[in-house]
Amino acid sequence: MRSRLDDVVAASLLGGGAVPAFTCYDFATATAVVEAAETAAEEAGLGVVLNVAPKTAATRAGLRLIAALRTLADGASVPVCVQLDHAADAAVIADAVAAGADAVLADGSALPLEDNVAFVRHVRAIVGPDVVLEAELGGLAGDEDKAFAQEAAGLTDPDEVRGFVERSGAQLLAVAIGNVHGRYRGEPQIRWDVLGRIAQESPVPLVLHGASGIPAADLARAASFRVGKVNVNTELRTAVLASVAGGVAGRQADGEDLAGLLREWSTAAGRVAGDVLATLRG
Ligand SMILES: [Zn+2]
Repeated sequence: MRSRLDDVVAASLLGGGAVPAFTCYDFATATAVVEAAETAAEEAGLGVVLNVAPKTAATRAGLRLIAALRTLADGASVPVCVQLDHAADAAVIADAVAAGADAVLADGSALPLEDNVAFVRHVRAIVGPDVVLEAELGGLAGDEDKAFAQEAAGLTDPDEVRGFVERSGAQLLAVAIGNVHGRYRGEPQIRWDVLGRIAQESPVPLVLHGASGIPAADLARAASFRVGKVNVNTELRTAVLASVAGGVAGRQADGEDLAGLLREWSTAAGRVAGDVLATLRG
């Protein structure tokens, strides 16, 4: 069912957990994620976010995927939001919202602070009042779409948080606290001290990107620091690619069974989504 992302995050935090957001490059993955959330909802009744990468949204096929995800979300038995992830291009944002995205990460984290504020405000002017805006402060190391070993780079400055959120109008804040996109080089070192200070300063809930590779106990703990959304991408890709790699030869031998391979794809994606949902809801 269609739900606002800020409402879904608030409901998750009230329940003591965070809502997971899964990057969907394709419809089979998205369907598996929604079905995993519907299955988990029999116990908890909480939602899920379908993230779309900006490179996806920059193509005509990607905008059609967003429209398909919109239909999938609206027909689900649990709250589902469709979010454009990490968008720094206002034209792509406008196209994605027109196609059906109801939330956007207006990502000005690579810009100086004042320009980041101005970018988020500019996006608000483009998308209107009903699209939920996440913003990012600090900037994360790593590539969204390809996983290479990364060390954490910048940290969000807690002293900048309150002013940034109030002036930008962001409804959710993505933070850099030792998390990275892709794979962690060594063990992730989450800076709980910094997260604690950010949580005190921020008027809005926080978002943790780069959850793949962060231990389950840490993800569960993050909700107590007002982390209301957790983004998962690499973990899903790893599981899906491993299942495809293991299945291709057998399916080729079995009469070119593409439908069977897609079932394996969906099963792998659904298993990851189910595990993350279970972790975040304790
Ligand atoms: Zn991210």
